[in-house]
Amino acid sequence: MGSSNSRYLKVLREYCMANDNRVYTFLISPSRTSKIRQLSIDKNLLRAAAAVVVFTFLLMIYGAVRLGQHEALNLKYLSVKAENENLKQANDAYENSYARLKGQISYIEDMSKELARKARMEHSPEIDELVGIGGPETVVALDKAANQLERDVRHINDHLRSDILRMASIPRGLPVNGYVTDGFGMRRNPFNGEGREVHEGLDIAVDFGTPVTATADGLVIYAAPHAGYGNLVIVYHSNGITTRYGHLSRISVEAGQRVKRGDQLGNAGSTGRSTGPHVHYEIRENDQSVDPLRYSAQSSGLRVAN
Ligand SMILES: [Zn+2]
Repeated sequence: MGSSNSRYLKVLREYCMANDNRVYTFLISPSRTSKIRQLSIDKNLLRAAAAVVVFTFLLMIYGAVRLGQHEALNLKYLSVKAENENLKQANDAYENSYARLKGQISYIEDMSKELARKARMEHSPEIDELVGIGGPETVVALDKAANQLERDVRHINDHLRSDILRMASIPRGLPVNGYVTDGFGMRRNPFNGEGREVHEGLDIAVDFGTPVTATADGLVIYAAPHAGYGNLVIVYHSNGITTRYGHLSRISVEAGQRVKRGDQLGNAGSTGRSTGPHVHYEIRENDQSVDPLRYSAQSSGLRVAN
């Protein structure tokens, strides 16, 4: 009996599952006192509605995701666009500076050629190869050209500087503006007029106390009385050249002091073997006296007394 009963239940369950025509009934009451309304919905209809709701919901999620993706893409596009704009501007600025640098390099090259010509130097031919006719075409070429130009200009500058130093240390003009009363070479003894002697410099007559100046840049190596010279200043210049300034009434420099051409060494006087106020001016090359007029030929204001 038990087994036939369970078989019956099983058949019933299978029947019910195959023909499920159940409805869901909702009892709706707007308030406690109002009449209860009854709403019956077919189970399949409810399933379909749920499916529609779920599908709509999924569609919305999908839509939201796509919208998000689109927004992200749009933002990315805008940022790439802005970046591109910046790069374009940077590139324009770079091209402008590049063109300007090219122009400057060419200008400096011309200037350095001009300087080299004035300094009577050979200009490095390398630079023409580096710069070329239309100017350097790459940043590397520009950099090389700039470096080469820097070397060239330094070289020219060093050359000119040593030239200037050399020029400055070569005696020029006379230590005082006066009359040359006695030249370089053999002369009659000025004291007793008897016999001849070698006069190793120029005698330049000036008023007592006239400032005596160095005829070139150099180093004072002697500043004290010295026998017949009286108060004497000796200045060493370069290449073994020295100048001597004798018979000074006063010395205003010290041994070891650097002087420039035109700096005062003392004042004219008549100390030592002298017959009146004058400056004995001497130039020596490796301690051999030479005619100062050889150095002073271009000197303005040089007046030789007859
Ligand atoms: Zn003299």
